[in-house]
Amino acid sequence: MNAPAAILTDIAPLTPTETLAGATHGWRAKCLQRLIRLDIPVPPTVALPMTTVRAIAQGQPVDCRAVLMRFGDAALVSVRPSPENPDWGGPATVLNVGMNSQRHAELTRTHGAQAADTMYRRFVQSYAIHVARLDPDMFDGADLATALRAYREETDEPFPEDPQRQLTDVLRSMARAWEGTSARLLRQAKGAPEGAGLGLLVQEMAQGFGPGLSGTGMIQFVSGTSGEPQIVGRFRGQTQGPVALGEEAAIFLTRDPRGPSLEDRAPKVFADLIRHGARCRERLREEMQIEFTIEDGRLSVLDAIKVDRTARAAVRIAVALADDGIIPREEALLRIEPRALSEVLHPQVDPHAARDVLVRGIAASPGAATGRLAFTAIAAQTFAARGEPSILVRRETSPEDIRGMHSAAGVLTERGGVTSHAAVIARGLGVPCVVGAGDMRLDVREGAMTTPSGRVLREGDVVTLDGSAGEALAGAMPMLAPALDETFRTLLHWSDAARDIGVRANADTPADAEIARKFDAQGIGLCRTEHMFFDEDRLTVMREMIFADTPADRAAVLARLLPMQRADFRRVFQIMAGRPVCIRLLDPPLHEFLPHTREGLRALAEALDRPLSEVTRRAEALSEFNPMLGMRGVRLGIVWPEIYEMQARAIFEATLDCAADGVTVVPEIMIPLVSTRREVELVRTKIDAVAALVRTTRGGEFAYRLGVMVETPRAALRASDIAVNAAFLSFGTNDLTQMTYGLSRDDAGRFMGPYLQSGVFTEDPFHVLDVDGVGELLLIGAERGRAARKDLTLALCGEHGGDPESIDFCRKAGFDYVSCSPFRVPMARLAAAHLALRERVTPVGARDWQTGELRRPAHVGAPNPADPAGV
Ligand code: PEP
Ligand code: MG
Repeated sequence: MNAPAAILTDIAPLTPTETLAGATHGWRAKCLQRLIRLDIPVPPTVALPMTTVRAIAQGQPVDCRAVLMRFGDAALVSVRPSPENPDWGGPATVLNVGMNSQRHAELTRTHGAQAADTMYRRFVQSYAIHVARLDPDMFDGADLATALRAYREETDEPFPEDPQRQLTDVLRSMARAWEGTSARLLRQAKGAPEGAGLGLLVQEMAQGFGPGLSGTGMIQFVSGTSGEPQIVGRFRGQTQGPVALGEEAAIFLTRDPRGPSLEDRAPKVFADLIRHGARCRERLREEMQIEFTIEDGRLSVLDAIKVDRTARAAVRIAVALADDGIIPREEALLRIEPRALSEVLHPQVDPHAARDVLVRGIAASPGAATGRLAFTAIAAQTFAARGEPSILVRRETSPEDIRGMHSAAGVLTERGGVTSHAAVIARGLGVPCVVGAGDMRLDVREGAMTTPSGRVLREGDVVTLDGSAGEALAGAMPMLAPALDETFRTLLHWSDAARDIGVRANADTPADAEIARKFDAQGIGLCRTEHMFFDEDRLTVMREMIFADTPADRAAVLARLLPMQRADFRRVFQIMAGRPVCIRLLDPPLHEFLPHTREGLRALAEALDRPLSEVTRRAEALSEFNPMLGMRGVRLGIVWPEIYEMQARAIFEATLDCAADGVTVVPEIMIPLVSTRREVELVRTKIDAVAALVRTTRGGEFAYRLGVMVETPRAALRASDIAVNAAFLSFGTNDLTQMTYGLSRDDAGRFMGPYLQSGVFTEDPFHVLDVDGVGELLLIGAERGRAARKDLTLALCGEHGGDPESIDFCRKAGFDYVSCSPFRVPMARLAAAHLALRERVTPVGARDWQTGELRRPAHVGAPNPADPAGV
């Protein structure tokens, strides 16, 4: 049988006329090809296609003559990896291939012994490590003679002299390294497909040694941290290979009082670099970092890669490229990953700082804050009164902790999952939160917590809570401040022009509404009115109402709450300036408003002037075995109708007050936890009656919309019944998920970890919408609701509302809007824009969950905004 033919005839010299595809030769080949076409001085380079590299890895014989013939006789070459996507990694670049004793002698004559020795030693070292797989420690700090000796002793042969053999071995080792298991797993984790290939580039070495100005450097034209225009980089004389930014012996690029600079030493080369950078930006449509070599004053550009950047810098760079007409706005939008915006909206722990992790939990609200440990809400308030930030640590939080949470800079709880009380409130407040940190031991009475490693921290100790990473860290960490600048706003306005689903905010108080406006929410999709009752003065009145003996007494106490509610609603309406506001009538079980401790009950007895025994008995009577399934939501509204009547009256009166101020409001009133048609009818009758009464007593006209919050599976299944009396259905996917799975949202944190690890759940369903189960209920509810009422508005207001996958689902199901915590609004706006733009690129449309038919017409014929920059 014939031996397989030696390969490597299939090589592509990079020339100004050649066009190489990233899919066949990799991104680096494509990028260098473009640089050459832009007249940027890249040393002679040839590209090996991925097919060839794979054949080499599989053991095909290699004949390097055709490659080496492309370079001068005495040339040394480098071999660089070129995968399709730069994020997929690849083997390390090998420099100075072709180095042997003869070339060493020549270089000693032309460049001096030191330069020649350094180049030879570097090659021996990388060949020994990457090709012969010898222990790197043997070559650490070794001079040339020691390195050559070590190689001979370990391999029983002298270091190879033949450039052809050297190149063959280097190519083979790089090709095989790419196919290795760990390299494969690493790139697949970054999204590389199973069969991702590697191209290789062989490039003539441009020496950074020699007489005159010689050396190697890197330059970029924006800051990778802020994205602002700025020349960043370094240059080192008499060296070669990549120079790490910030190396000590480097000289500055631009003029600098601290030392010599390239700008002064070689003004022409410096000007050329600036020119090349500008061309790269314009033609490659990206901010690039350029690796260059200067040899006796002559500039070569060896490589160019996308500038590494923070999310904040990515926003600024994309907007600037679009503003300069280099990329379309749609492409600028698609270049920013929506989830990355949370990095821009909250302070972050400096990613370069060393971390001393005290305890880990679930990352429940992003951002980071430093503060003193506070183990009670009172302690957090006390710190706040002294102007000191605190981190509130609780076993779990309850409505009693609200004031403490408002005062704290961050919240850490031992129990709970992503929709627990602590998590929901913290996201609304925009403070970092870590929940379910079950490994710490909390001793509230002693005012101490013990970390899993046994460290004891006491009240007042300083910690940093990283809600993005789900960690509490020792001490005060260096932080990066949030940047809500003009570029960020610009990007979001472009998103609004592109998206086709509404984005509202869940905002419970005037303070939340201010944030919702700041982030340009289209309205409020959920105002949880109970949060208006947790201020000290209101809480006491609320408790009096709970303890009222007769409906008449109850109505009398409610009359004291009325002006407070009216003022809140009026303020919220004013802040939202006519944008829709959806107010949910009282939802939680009443015992949530009562104290849970003996001291609390005693204080309440005192405030109400009733015996402690009576107060305790009444509190016990209100407690339920399963409060989440008990007397709450609409059930409360039917059994104690005075509460909803008071709330409706406050809403209508606030509407008329706003009209007098010149703000037209059409309030939306939402009934929680509905499961039957009759519930809606009963509440509707009462509310219509209140509206009629307010119209007559106040003598004004107003319109309002009454809707239902779909939180029980039955409400979804019976949506056609329910929609008869509802102008809108808003799916509360927190409770709907809880009830569909029969999974307590406050206790799920206990077993969520093992459930995820063992694959029972692929994701936490309170975090990522369970499309298969809960999603099916959403589709059934939407379809049946719309069948009964064509103009029915459909919305989702659970915590899933800010999640890009859930937005995708809602969009495809034809929902009108999603509503999420105010701090997630920007991410939701951008994610919605991505979905609409992607659909324009690949018109997939929405499919009916049963028939598979398209539901939403695709936007065809639009420009292709996802055309990649090709780098
Ligand atoms: C829900 O249940 O999805 C919801 C938004 O309401 P809450 O979180 O207040 O129960
Ligand atoms: Mg709910």
